Amino acid sequence: MTNARSSSEPIDVVSDRYVTISVDDGSAGDMKTADLLHKYGLQATFYIPGRNPERPVIGPSQIRELSRRFEIGSHTLNHAPLKFLSDEKASQEIREGKQLMEEVLGEAVISFCYPRGKFNGTTPILVKNAGFLGARTSLMNLHDFPRNPFLWGVSTQAYSHSKMIHVRHALLEGNFAGIRNFFQDYKGATDWEEHFSRALAHVGEHGGIAHMIMHSWEMEDLGQWKKLESVFAAISRSGLTSVTNGHLYRIWSSNRVSPVPVAEPAGGPR
Ligand SMILES: [Zn+2]
Repeated sequence: MTNARSSSEPIDVVSDRYVTISVDDGSAGDMKTADLLHKYGLQATFYIPGRNPERPVIGPSQIRELSRRFEIGSHTLNHAPLKFLSDEKASQEIREGKQLMEEVLGEAVISFCYPRGKFNGTTPILVKNAGFLGARTSLMNLHDFPRNPFLWGVSTQAYSHSKMIHVRHALLEGNFAGIRNFFQDYKGATDWEEHFSRALAHVGEHGGIAHMIMHSWEMEDLGQWKKLESVFAAISRSGLTSVTNGHLYRIWSSNRVSPVPVAEPAGGPR
């Protein structure tokens, strides 16, 4: 992947401490998540597909309601894992998902998220060519500006994974920085609240981006709304700057960030 940025005025990443939240899938519970985010004065990006064969997606009026306070990003037209589609079909999913959200909102949609975190070597280029500014993966245990803005990593998924899952996913994805960070900076934490508190602490001390990704339907299924509220309260106390994903994509594209090298990932499970 090429890096088109110039070396002019790099940001001192040590002095920039961000926190951002991704809410994926546009499920009915997103309205409740939005209320909680608002209560704690937090920003977030809601990645919403046009349709999802796995569960219902909120309608245009609710999407517009969310967009009054938060960013809406695209999550393809049919929530299809793009890694396994032809370039032509993948491109169609990416472009038509963007078009649909833009019709709903009446404004440009600049942020993209890969369904199930899956992509292949070409997918990030297709996303870029569709006119997005940045794309978020599900590569975990990362808290730095990426080398490639179409392969943006995250710190924590709001779901408790075992140590083995953390390591196995990272190996399959070629996310070697993630493995190192998991043990060094996240202290091998498996409980997601503890895991994200490590991200907040690390970024508070060293700079970077604490990025939590979540599904409202998982909060509902696992009865974890109280835990989510506790995490939101911790974020609001952290003193980090709460921004949307799109805000970070714009910073990246403004050529002001000095990139922190990360391995080019392969795009694996989940
Ligand atoms: Zn999804």
